[in-house]
Amino acid sequence: MSPIDDTDAFEAAERASLSARAMAARPMPYLEGLNPAQRQAVEALDGPVLMLAGAGTGKTKALTTRIAHLLNTGVARPNEILAVTFTNKAAREMKERVGRLMGHTVEGMPWLGTFHAICVKLLRRHAELAGLKSNFTILDTDDQIRLMKQLIVAANIDEKRWPARQLAGIIDHWKNRAWTPEQVSAAEASAFNNRGVELYAAYQDRLRNLNAVDFGDLLLHMLTIFQAHEDVLAQYRRWFRYILVDEYQDTNVAQYMWLRLLAGGHKNICCVGDDDQSIYGWRGAEVGNILRFEKDFPGAEVIRLEQNYRSTPHILAAASGLIAANKGRLGKTLWTEADEGEKVRLIGHWDGEEEARWIGEEAEALQGGSRGLDPKSLDDMAILVRASHQMRAFEDRFLTIGLPYRVIGGPRFYERMEIRDAMAYFRLAVSPDDDLAFERIVNTPKRGLGDKAQQKIQVMARSNGVTLVEGARLLLETQGLTGKGASELRKLLQGIGRWHGGALDSAQSHVELAEIILEESGYTEHWQNDKTPEAPGRLENLKELVKALEEFENLQGFLEHVALIMDNETEGEGAKISIMTLHAAKGLEFPVVFLPGWEDGLFPSQRSMDESGLKGLEEERRLAYVGITRAEELCTISFAANRRVYGQWQSALPSRFIDELPEAHVEVLTPPGLYGGGGAVSSGIEQAAAGANVYNSPGWKRLQARGQQRPVGQPRESRTITIDVEAVAAYESGARVFHQKFGYGTVTGIEGDKLDIAFDKAGRKNVVARFVVPAENADDVPS
Ligand code: ATP
Ligand code: MG
Repeated sequence: MSPIDDTDAFEAAERASLSARAMAARPMPYLEGLNPAQRQAVEALDGPVLMLAGAGTGKTKALTTRIAHLLNTGVARPNEILAVTFTNKAAREMKERVGRLMGHTVEGMPWLGTFHAICVKLLRRHAELAGLKSNFTILDTDDQIRLMKQLIVAANIDEKRWPARQLAGIIDHWKNRAWTPEQVSAAEASAFNNRGVELYAAYQDRLRNLNAVDFGDLLLHMLTIFQAHEDVLAQYRRWFRYILVDEYQDTNVAQYMWLRLLAGGHKNICCVGDDDQSIYGWRGAEVGNILRFEKDFPGAEVIRLEQNYRSTPHILAAASGLIAANKGRLGKTLWTEADEGEKVRLIGHWDGEEEARWIGEEAEALQGGSRGLDPKSLDDMAILVRASHQMRAFEDRFLTIGLPYRVIGGPRFYERMEIRDAMAYFRLAVSPDDDLAFERIVNTPKRGLGDKAQQKIQVMARSNGVTLVEGARLLLETQGLTGKGASELRKLLQGIGRWHGGALDSAQSHVELAEIILEESGYTEHWQNDKTPEAPGRLENLKELVKALEEFENLQGFLEHVALIMDNETEGEGAKISIMTLHAAKGLEFPVVFLPGWEDGLFPSQRSMDESGLKGLEEERRLAYVGITRAEELCTISFAANRRVYGQWQSALPSRFIDELPEAHVEVLTPPGLYGGGGAVSSGIEQAAAGANVYNSPGWKRLQARGQQRPVGQPRESRTITIDVEAVAAYESGARVFHQKFGYGTVTGIEGDKLDIAFDKAGRKNVVARFVVPAENADDVPS
């Protein structure tokens, strides 16, 4: 039975039978475990309900039980419930949980899912009202960008200055705000060189002609349809008799309006969330939506849950103390009956590799039972990182020691698109015969070498029995390809030749070569021009890839390593430690949680603070709160004093969030025998500075001597100290410099970001400026 076939007569009859069923008292064992507030949230079936409560207080549990109760009492049929969750994974879990509560699997809850999944289904039914056919296609980002590029060119706009990706970001932002082209606010009319709105309209027209939508359209079209067609809205208001929303704090304006329209009739809407866990502001989420619920739905029952069932008191207190530093929040009390348990542990490491090593060892120790805890399974443990590039060090380490792991919410490091692309370039440098690698990158970034050109290359190669690179060369020689494609292909082939030469030259640093390849191929630039939210992360992954190279002798050795570890992958059934970003960890819980990389600049993220100032910092702090509150029994925060980026060591200061942790709930760990430990966080760090290895090291002392270390307890001015990375562009001819591999030398010429250097021992070389430091700072580059 589909909602739109429904008739009022049918509905009335059905309703009668429903209440008859509702009368027949059924056992409700699922109510028993709930506390009074949760029970209230479950049983107050009619009218608006808001559950606004801190982490781990059983919001999701109450929401799930409410669904079970609606079904079990017969008040609603499965297809009359609209339940929105944040991820497909959460939706699956919720369905399973409802089944468990009811004691049997739940059949047919077609409207339990994410906003996107639900809207696709709705839009297929009503496509014609949006000028589409019901078999419309959903564009992926690539298609979307290609389309925008065409429109930009057609509008005579310089695509170099006004890249399509930027337009995509702007349009996405407008869609999140529920603005059709006509509704874009006057304040934003200047976007994209004053042409944004016009291009947005043209883009929507093109999509319609193609019978296509993008992701943002799914919601926006349905919203527009509801607004313009009262009858359709009325139909769904009748049909979706009960609406439930989890993680309400992360809804954007369009989602919020959509929900408000649907709930507008019966007002049977139950939203649950936590303003302290709003972490998607950067994607248009509006925490204000949850704060104005009572205004939108007068008479709403507001239920606050205060008992936390997830974490030990120390973990809870540490998280509450941290989030207290945020200004714009409602504030809440949380308590728990759990035993005191372990304090939140804090440990500083010399560098990122040591951090990964330590966590690997700790995970192994915990499996055998340590720190007074029962033995834990790897399934009970999670590593939550701020940025996906942090995952690489853990993956490499775990593959080396054979510790099974899974990456949640994204591909594993070496499976990421940008990493595979970059590796394809490296493979070609090592071996220009590598046809698969050539196929992968020949038109990445776009070089005007589309399917047709690629086919010509293939044919040429096959008919001459040569490799694709050779085939391409022949094609150019015989003028089988002309125009822009030909000149771009020539450039690529010249590049491959040069890079291959570099790979064969033992004097050429392979790390530098990798950087040169990524630059000269235009691949780095391709992502720099990309304005989608994923682009900065991809650039960081590329940096991380270059960093990984440093541990190897040459490119060849590195490629072999990756091939081997990828081959070692076992997708077995056994227990695995989880690695994921903090964003992906929303709503989840684990007995043991590791939170690495708490360094200023990495976490809180410099980018987020640069782009959004205090607002950005507060969102980062909420993310830290989400991280700590995922832990049930043991939470370990760590930071590294040094991270290697692009061949340079960056010294980082411990995250400001560490200072904000309440001292009484934190234990500072240091390697055994070095320092006796202590309660207070800050003084712990101070003591550590006096005794522990990291802070007693020459590198750290030098930093202090340079006056760059913030006095403990003072507000932090500089975040990440970058040793001379920024200054390098300013070299002059004659300057004395130091290079990690070639030693001391004198700058003899400058071209772009490359320096001609006469090295004292290694002779003349052309190196990227970033790889040298002024000679007087040579000591800052660890050998
Ligand atoms: P978050 O804000 O992180 O999404 P939440 O408020 O949704 O957290 P839940 O995930 O529903 O919290 O619950 C946290 C843990 O507490 C779960 O393991 C859940 O089973 C348990 N729990 C919730 N309510 C109760 C209760 N009344 N009695 C015992 N355990 C409970
Ligand atoms: Mg939850």
